[in-house]
Amino acid sequence: MKNVNEILKWMNQNQKINYDRLLQKLIKSWEEQNVRPKILMHACCAPCTTYPLEYLCQYADITIYYYNNNIQPRNEWERRRIVLRNFIKDFNEKTGNDVQIIETKYQPNTYLKEVKNLHNEPEGGLRCNVCYNLRLTAAALYAKEHNFDYFGTSLTISPHKNSQTLNQIGIEIQHLYQTKWLPSDFKKNDGFHRSIEICEEYNVYRQKYCGCLFAAKKMEMLDLKQISREADEFVKLNHDRYSNFDLVKFNFQHKEASTVD
Ligand code: SF4
Repeated sequence: MKNVNEILKWMNQNQKINYDRLLQKLIKSWEEQNVRPKILMHACCAPCTTYPLEYLCQYADITIYYYNNNIQPRNEWERRRIVLRNFIKDFNEKTGNDVQIIETKYQPNTYLKEVKNLHNEPEGGLRCNVCYNLRLTAAALYAKEHNFDYFGTSLTISPHKNSQTLNQIGIEIQHLYQTKWLPSDFKKNDGFHRSIEICEEYNVYRQKYCGCLFAAKKMEMLDLKQISREADEFVKLNHDRYSNFDLVKFNFQHKEASTVD
């Protein structure tokens, strides 16, 4: 199966790369070869997962990787995890797909250690690059160890995330760990708008901040105490319902990923 670099070398390197076009070319190559790749897609929450799943499931078998030590506080991490499980379960039932989820333990110190001098960075700055790097590296290591054909992320659907940066980091990680990056820019082709529609169709909770408290505290209108209270209530109400969810596999042996300098 093709590596993104095999397609990149035919594109004009002096122009801004259209990673959505790159993904479409990759998909065309799968169709020509009559293959259906196994993709490990890192996801931070259900809303970001909606459209990427709807799109990719037409061409590939997808497993979601929930590795997000950046999300604070813990009950919000837990809430997003449960909402994601809920969405995948409903998505599979409605579409006949068999999307699986891999979850790791919540280890916020892994993230906090890496960003300790970057608390005051704006959203989209250096702290975010380190954050992307941690999460995509973890996905790449898991994908390599478990023989996935590609690793990628649904983060490129967000209008607040720089898809050029995310794809460049993904390609660097691919070189370091000899695995294959899935390029994407899911917000293109009306992808972001479609993600909002899917959230409405499936009644999916859409959080108001990216994940870390550093960025959340800079949003003046955000009531973090209220968010934490709501997350607590949600987790208490929903925890038991999903404790035996058979689509979820756990990766508690996750080794701390080293970061890309
Ligand atoms: S704003 Fe989001 S991407 Fe940036 S560091 Fe915080 S959690 Fe990570």
